[in-house]
Amino acid sequence: MKTLFKRKLKLTTLLIGLITTSVLLTTVILLFASYQSEKRSLIDTHLSLNYSKSEKISSSVDSLFKSMKISLQEISYFLSNNPQMTDEEIQDYLELLKKSSRYFNSLAWIDETGVIQNIAPITVGLKGEAVTGMTKDVVDAKVRMLTPPYIAPSGRMLVLLSEPLFDSEGNYKGIIGGSIYLQEENVLNEILGNDNIESNGSYYFVVGPQGKILFHPDMNRIGDEVRGNTVVSKLLQGESGKEYVVNTKGVPMYAAYNYIPEISWGVVQQTPVSSVNELQKNHIQNLILTILVPFILILLISLTFARKLAKPFIELADLVNQLGTEREVRVTIPKSHWNREADLLTQSVKIAIETVQQNNQKLVEEAMTDTLTELPNRRKFNEVMTRLVNDGQLFSLVILDIDHFKSINDTYGHLQGDEVLKDLTEMVQSLIRKQDHFFRFGGEEFILLLPDTTSKEAFIVAEKIRARLENTTTTVGTSITISLGISEFPFHTHSLDELFLFADKAMYQSKSSGRNRTTIWSPNDRIA
Ligand code: GH3
Ligand code: MG
Ligand code: MG
Repeated sequence: MKTLFKRKLKLTTLLIGLITTSVLLTTVILLFASYQSEKRSLIDTHLSLNYSKSEKISSSVDSLFKSMKISLQEISYFLSNNPQMTDEEIQDYLELLKKSSRYFNSLAWIDETGVIQNIAPITVGLKGEAVTGMTKDVVDAKVRMLTPPYIAPSGRMLVLLSEPLFDSEGNYKGIIGGSIYLQEENVLNEILGNDNIESNGSYYFVVGPQGKILFHPDMNRIGDEVRGNTVVSKLLQGESGKEYVVNTKGVPMYAAYNYIPEISWGVVQQTPVSSVNELQKNHIQNLILTILVPFILILLISLTFARKLAKPFIELADLVNQLGTEREVRVTIPKSHWNREADLLTQSVKIAIETVQQNNQKLVEEAMTDTLTELPNRRKFNEVMTRLVNDGQLFSLVILDIDHFKSINDTYGHLQGDEVLKDLTEMVQSLIRKQDHFFRFGGEEFILLLPDTTSKEAFIVAEKIRARLENTTTTVGTSITISLGISEFPFHTHSLDELFLFADKAMYQSKSSGRNRTTIWSPNDRIA
């Protein structure tokens, strides 16, 4: 029974398990949902922020180049309108403009044959030299141009913005070229900033035609060709947008890119995915910290609640279990319970236990009562005598046996014999005290237990009964006689068994001495 009980799930465990699981699952679902929406919104925010930043940079670069272009146009216009200017005047003019506008690292007039006529600052040291390569190509092109980055004869990486120069008759006189030294201090990094890696790792770079980097926080990367980068290849096709991309170094990024049509450059602003993930991790950690206290509280309240809910059921189960295993149970039924089911069950169990106990009581009483005389029987006698002996109180035991009862049965019949037994019962009951106990021991044998009564006092009672019976006519029309034996506790013995045996011996002594008499047990008595 007990092992069976153990193997099954306890109600408290079940409730606690259920509550813990549901609270945990809810929390996990909440965290997961929050994680998902937060992730989406973080990515969207970063992409949007990056996009607006790249747009801003693009428009700065765009307007810068417009200004640069205008500046070169003005020089070209001025020079073509002032053909009388000496070499020295032109040099001064270019030096002045170079210093005042700060747009270009160098400002030069290269004639139609590719010879550098003037260059500011003069310190560049190329005055009078013929240009080659890309610079020569620009001269030969005779149109306004912005070159991709290239290494100039000076060994510098630069981009060149050119404006063709024509004299008043429309003859081509070369170009006015403004160069930007990409890897040195220049107007670009003045505008875009030098220290442009943000604390979360976001940065931007600018690419020119052919996918070459024009501006990058890492100067060493300037001039690198990054066509392989998805967003760069989109920029080269004149597209703008925002998306997840793995850059040429294999780092995943949330990138936004903006194309500048005027100069065919593009700006890429990007944030490492790892930094967004870090934000996400912090968010979840904060969320967990925030819900931890209420979570534990809810759990504790639920645990207490589960215990309280399960308590009456456990108590009732224990109670019923006790009823089944123990002979005598003092049951204290729990009072009404706030939970309806527990209350209903408690009331039902209460009624059931009361009924069982009443029935038990009835059965016990029935089992201890003689049906014919309604006297307590031999069982009850044992119980009462045990109690008296345990109390250690003085008392006397009297055994009564009807003389020759068999002959009454034989003469008048068994039923009449029964009536005689009832007559005797009534009569004895009328002669004893309230505190005295009268039992039918079996057949036509009866026993009296007389508390606080010595054998001598008991003898008087016994004789009174004997004499009364002798002189009373019973139902069958004759009187009956009885033989009696008496023993006294603790005077004769302390032993329960011996006390009975002594009274019985004394009774047989009465029989053998001729019946219709009373004998107090004495150690000298011998049974024949
Ligand atoms: P003694 O004087 O030696 O006691 O003789 P006795 O006949 O009374 O003793 P015995 O033990 O020989 O017989 C007892 C009789 O009591 C036998 C039985 O038929 C009768 N008897 C026992 N119980 C009942 C009962 O419940 N009703 C009736 N009518 N007779 C009973
Ligand atoms: Mg007998
Ligand atoms: Mg008898």
